[in-house]
Amino acid sequence: MNANLYAQFAQRFPEDLSRCCIETLNETYYSYRDIERASAKIANLLASLNLSEGARVAVQVEKSPEALLLYLATLRAGFVFLPLNTAYQRQEIQYFIEDAQPEVVVCAPQHFGWVSQLAFQSGSKFVFTLDATTQGANRGSLLERAVPMPDHFDTVHREPDDLAAILYTSGTTGRSKGAMLSHGNLFSNAEVLHRAWAWQENDVLIHALPLFHVHGLFVASHAVFMSGARMIFLPKFDAAQITQQIPRATVMMGVPTYYVRLLQDPDLNQTLCSHMRLFISGSAPLLAETFHAFAERTGHTILERYGMSETTMLVSNPYSGPRKAGTVGMALEGISVRVVDDHGQVCAPGEIGGIEVRGPNVFQGYWRIPEKTAEEFTKDGYFRTGDVGKFDADGYLSIVGRSKDLIITGGYNVYPKEIEAIIDDMDEVDESAVIGVAHTDFGEAVCAIVVLKQGKSLSGAEIIQRLKSQIANFKIPKQVHIVSALPRNTMGKVQKNLLRQQFSDAKLQ
Ligand code: AMP
Repeated sequence: MNANLYAQFAQRFPEDLSRCCIETLNETYYSYRDIERASAKIANLLASLNLSEGARVAVQVEKSPEALLLYLATLRAGFVFLPLNTAYQRQEIQYFIEDAQPEVVVCAPQHFGWVSQLAFQSGSKFVFTLDATTQGANRGSLLERAVPMPDHFDTVHREPDDLAAILYTSGTTGRSKGAMLSHGNLFSNAEVLHRAWAWQENDVLIHALPLFHVHGLFVASHAVFMSGARMIFLPKFDAAQITQQIPRATVMMGVPTYYVRLLQDPDLNQTLCSHMRLFISGSAPLLAETFHAFAERTGHTILERYGMSETTMLVSNPYSGPRKAGTVGMALEGISVRVVDDHGQVCAPGEIGGIEVRGPNVFQGYWRIPEKTAEEFTKDGYFRTGDVGKFDADGYLSIVGRSKDLIITGGYNVYPKEIEAIIDDMDEVDESAVIGVAHTDFGEAVCAIVVLKQGKSLSGAEIIQRLKSQIANFKIPKQVHIVSALPRNTMGKVQKNLLRQQFSDAKLQ
């Protein structure tokens, strides 16, 4: 059996290959036959380049169906796909290229000059451009080179453990590391999610996520390829475009911010969503408040799931069965998830500890840092996720935070989420982030950064006063800063590292 992920998808493509796989807002339709042929052309181009076994293909381009075709073609040709966040600047790209040593680099036409200079200096053999929106010739165009290629390609044979992709972690602590994912890792997760979320051929997915991250590239796209379904492919999140498409769709995937923004759209209501069967959220915590407000407005309970670059998805709320607000659900089929204390002992329900995971979805290790890989695995083969959480008595997992975000003040552990939840519950508050800042007496001091709802006023001293009646004294923030917005990355994660930098020298009260 060929374990190449593309071969697995192709087996599941609809019998009628003229069915639509991708449709764009300008009404361009890509049938499954188009997907086969176009990815074959690009795969033929890659195969003609005489690349080494396991060569990396690094890609930093705007989202387009052609970028997704390039991903499929890279799989087909047996090379390793390495997507890069479009927000990365020259210095960051230099780091990734030097670290991953891709033989092929694909970039946006406007970056061709400096990217090719960097890439050739680091030993890359080819630099192409990809811009689906540009008509006509542009320097180094991958698509122009691929057009004359044959539209048939025998997908290269791969074993389950062979590498399919490297995803660089967002690197909020220290340097960004390349998580190596195999064909088997990605297929096992695609298959599990296909079943868990009951995908069918007549599903229509709203795909508004970026393609450089596990969520948009793997979870969303794979779900469609695995079921022969269709995706409405949006270049980026736009609440108005989404509400326009919702009546034609059946499933939507998003980060929590998408749902918060959709709720601000007065058009969002039960009738609009009557054709939808599932809204899924992940990549960052979905506030219980958003979950409830969405249910009230649309009649749909958002299904929250949890995953990461190193493991793809590991936990999900059930498709059938209660979805609990503030939890990420239960371990997915075939995946073992546990919460352990500082001594590696499994915690009882309700006890907080480190989340660990073992299963066919767990990655092959960090690219060229075997010592870091070894450090992150337990003796019995569990990967330490770096997230902290607890199971409830029904087996639903809640995430309390990242272990690195844990605050130790005067020897006591403080979990930021507990304090954030109480502050967020205050009527005047929109959202908050709690961090630890260095403190001479306590080691670290609790510091809250708070965004108020529009038109509301509340002082830091009042927030502290209200907290005093609800939580132990050592958890009370020593300082509260009111700001207009929290810094977030493209996946909606609050960038606590930036807050720590910003507020590390702020005067303590
Ligand atoms: P990334 O590798 O960029 O996908 O980041 C993975 C991290 O995102 C996880 O380790 C979690 O800290 C966080 N994350 C993902 N999904 C959720 C979720 N549903 N709730 C809370 N945090 C999440």
